[in-house]
Amino acid sequence: MVAVVPPARPRKLAKVPFVELADGRLQGVVSSGSDVERVYVSSVTAGTHGYQCSTNNNRPCGGLRGMPCKHLHALADEAVLQYGVDRVARYLRVDIGDGLADGSELLARLDGQPEPASAAVVFSRFLRHLSYLELPVSTVVLPELHWFPATGAGR
Ligand SMILES: [Zn+2]
Repeated sequence: MVAVVPPARPRKLAKVPFVELADGRLQGVVSSGSDVERVYVSSVTAGTHGYQCSTNNNRPCGGLRGMPCKHLHALADEAVLQYGVDRVARYLRVDIGDGLADGSELLARLDGQPEPASAAVVFSRFLRHLSYLELPVSTVVLPELHWFPATGAGR
């Protein structure tokens, strides 16, 4: 048994623990605002600008009603922070004209539709990403490990 000790302070990445430009998509993992055990996998496809959001168990996001949900907004904002707006726009092939302030403006320029995408693929990339972090051995609970129960340990 490993002693469970709460982290001294929640890390910023708790909101969007994973974001990447890969596989022709802006994609990542966004934590649920209301349920710490749930995460959403959100993505926007380059070129077509089709977008998708679902839980890591492939349940559709209830916030997707013909427009990007708050998870996609959080993902886009984080991507802009991480990569810069020009790089994200170039990758997605979005015409940003005179420039954009943030991820929400970027999403507003998209003309895509919701489209099917596999949350499992992105989520497994996220888990692999975590294993690459080479975190030092510690008895302190890492915020990242909070995501693991959502993969089904409670079933
Ligand atoms: Zn969503």
